[in-house]
Amino acid sequence: MPGKKAEKTRANWLSVLEKHKHDADAPGSEEYWSPRLDCASRDELTAIQNEKLAALTPFLYENSGFYQRRFDRLGLAPTDIQSLDDLPKWPVVDKSEMMADVQENPPFGTYTTHDDDLWAKRGWMMFSSSGSTGVPRPFRYSQIDREYWSWANARAIHSFGIRPHDSMFICAGYGPHVFAWGVQYALAKMGVACIPGGGMNSDMRAMIVERFKPTVITSTPSYALHLGRVMEEKGMDPAKSSVKTLFIGGEPAAGIGNTRQRLEDLWGARLVEFYGCTEVAPHSGGYSCPASEAGPGPVTTHLMEDFQIWELVDDETKEPVPEGTRGLTVCTSLNSESSAQLRFLVGDYTTYTYEPCDCGRTHVRAVGAFAGRADDLINLRGIKMYPVQLEQAVRAVAGVGDEYEIVLNTNADGLDIMTARIEHAEQSAGDLVANEIRSRCEIRADVEVLALGTLPKTEFKAKRIRDERGD
Ligand SMILES: [Zn+2]
Repeated sequence: MPGKKAEKTRANWLSVLEKHKHDADAPGSEEYWSPRLDCASRDELTAIQNEKLAALTPFLYENSGFYQRRFDRLGLAPTDIQSLDDLPKWPVVDKSEMMADVQENPPFGTYTTHDDDLWAKRGWMMFSSSGSTGVPRPFRYSQIDREYWSWANARAIHSFGIRPHDSMFICAGYGPHVFAWGVQYALAKMGVACIPGGGMNSDMRAMIVERFKPTVITSTPSYALHLGRVMEEKGMDPAKSSVKTLFIGGEPAAGIGNTRQRLEDLWGARLVEFYGCTEVAPHSGGYSCPASEAGPGPVTTHLMEDFQIWELVDDETKEPVPEGTRGLTVCTSLNSESSAQLRFLVGDYTTYTYEPCDCGRTHVRAVGAFAGRADDLINLRGIKMYPVQLEQAVRAVAGVGDEYEIVLNTNADGLDIMTARIEHAEQSAGDLVANEIRSRCEIRADVEVLALGTLPKTEFKAKRIRDERGD
């Protein structure tokens, strides 16, 4: 059972969140779900963030063993971190720290503010990171989280222009992954109809699109590509289907021009994007707006600042970088009963702008959206590149199939080499792809050209990099 002090800090935390809850149940206007919050001035947003932050640190200290130990180890008191200016005192939290915590305190770890008592009183759902890169990290959420979460997602989905006359087909497995569930609950709040697409293969999903005519498809970009191709194989034309919007999450897509174009052409639809992660932003952290693609510049993605504090830090020093400088995303989660987090390193590269957006929303924007996690960085003979750069390069060549694979291995001379395995009808495409890779990544790659349809089809998250290098 939590102590009196822990109960008091929780009650205070929840009362601060309640105070800044506006337009929670219905949209405040046609354009903005919450005009008051979505279009708040910078001063108002800062005041909200500071007030929540001051309530957050004692709440974390009293309700999370992980945070209490970390404060003590750093020689900091919760009162040392009360405002945005104080944040740099707290070194960013890395997911490896959470993994170590789970290993020491199985099965849930102590990095959340959700314990067995809360789970019994008002538990809602447990989600988990995939565990593909280590120990799975579970996150239990409460009924209060469900309420805040669906509200935040409704604000973001409203920003996409999705309204009750739409209907959404959610192509996801409905496992313990946050994305589909968060969307599902938001739609219920918005009064938007949906078709849950769990437990179906792609043939069945293609038939659903054809027969029941949803206007929105929700999936990863890899899956939207896959489903479109399955429809084509069945003699259907996705571009002539009822689908007008591709609502993408789970992998970057909006900021990868060639991938976005390929998807938009295939479906004859526009692409909008959700950005978040299981740890701090199970609801939408980032979301497209009507002005996301306006103008000749790169796409931009808003970040919901009354719900979270979004910083960018240098990839080496982990110190904050100035506006307009590229850095890694760091998120302080300000609106969760169960997973409030202080400066979690989400770790995607982007650049921020605080310039006003044509849509009227005032929240900070990630310019060029997101380009992949820092963990995914490829280092080949000292040359560093991201999978998205390779994706851009491969897809810059006309006629290249949807599937491709990048293999890293060590040749007989002990030299690390890269081979791109692509699909194309013409062998000569190999040189074009090699040139694109050389000009974008400054590295020479061998290119193997395979007949179209040779590589296995990707369904959900694409794993396109195969690293077989020796030590
Ligand atoms: Zn905007």
